[in-house]
Amino acid sequence: MSLIVVGSMAFDAIETPFGKSDRIIGGAATYIAWSASNFTQPIKQVSVVGGDFPKEELQMLEARGVVTEGVEIKENEKSFFWSGRYHLDMNTRDTLDTQLNVLANFNPVVPDSYQDCEFLMLGNLVPAVQNAVIDQMKKKPKLVVLDTMNFWMEIAMPDLENVLKKVDVLMVNDSEARQLSGQYSLVKAAKVIMNMGPKYLIIKKGEHGALLFHEEQVFFAPALPLEDVFDPTGAGDTFAGGFIGHIAKTKDISFENMKTAIIVGSAMASFCVEKFGTTRLKEISKEDIEARIQQFVQLVNFDIELV
Ligand code: AMP
Repeated sequence: MSLIVVGSMAFDAIETPFGKSDRIIGGAATYIAWSASNFTQPIKQVSVVGGDFPKEELQMLEARGVVTEGVEIKENEKSFFWSGRYHLDMNTRDTLDTQLNVLANFNPVVPDSYQDCEFLMLGNLVPAVQNAVIDQMKKKPKLVVLDTMNFWMEIAMPDLENVLKKVDVLMVNDSEARQLSGQYSLVKAAKVIMNMGPKYLIIKKGEHGALLFHEEQVFFAPALPLEDVFDPTGAGDTFAGGFIGHIAKTKDISFENMKTAIIVGSAMASFCVEKFGTTRLKEISKEDIEARIQQFVQLVNFDIELV
């Protein structure tokens, strides 16, 4: 019993006000797997890469309990490439380039050995591919979580609407929630989006934390105030990995447990931004994670006496 992670595995080129990276390893499913593997194993990965993707990166993930049977390698093609530039606030960014390459004609095949999985994390990817993975699952997973972005709202909205009908939890950032719903108020946006299919909605607000909506309930988790944010790339995916990793570990899909999962996700995201790319995620230990989660508990813990 385990977790399937679907999403891009990629090369990124990142510019922040503090520095610039060469082509480094990125991709939604890469970040999700690094993050979730701290909580649950095995993780069964579905993705596609070109012949240029370093084999050592896949081997490092395998050493973390990530099964790569469902990662197709198209030897004669190039991996997905994304480049972005962050604004001074580090909360907003412009996409400079998106080269789909291997993603353009990707037909995912879910291996038979993945069919026992109870949890499905659909990381950022072509909505039709996310849909194809759901349709290949012989048994409906206990929880299907989907992450997406503005890029797909702009070029594949009908496919996105289609897949949204089949997911339990949607994760987007605040501007994407507004774009998807056509509402500025996030509370109104949440109502519109939950009518599109997902029963739960998580709205990520970068350094301002994250909101969880379900029916009439709302929960808010802050982001850890950090002195230096080096590179926010992958923070959303790392958050997703912590969230689904905790849910898969506990097998509890209640709203109460989702609150804890959001704190775990926020703690993981706070590591991701401390160094460029996946560097920080590759070096942290279980003890580091536990200590960081405790910092979150302290951050929001207060007693109040009403008179
Ligand atoms: P995040 O900062 O969490 O939104 O995720 C950044 C990661 O998403 C980068 O490593 C990119 O490779 C990946 N990415 C960017 N655009 C797309 C896209 N259109 N589809 C899939 N993955 C993407």
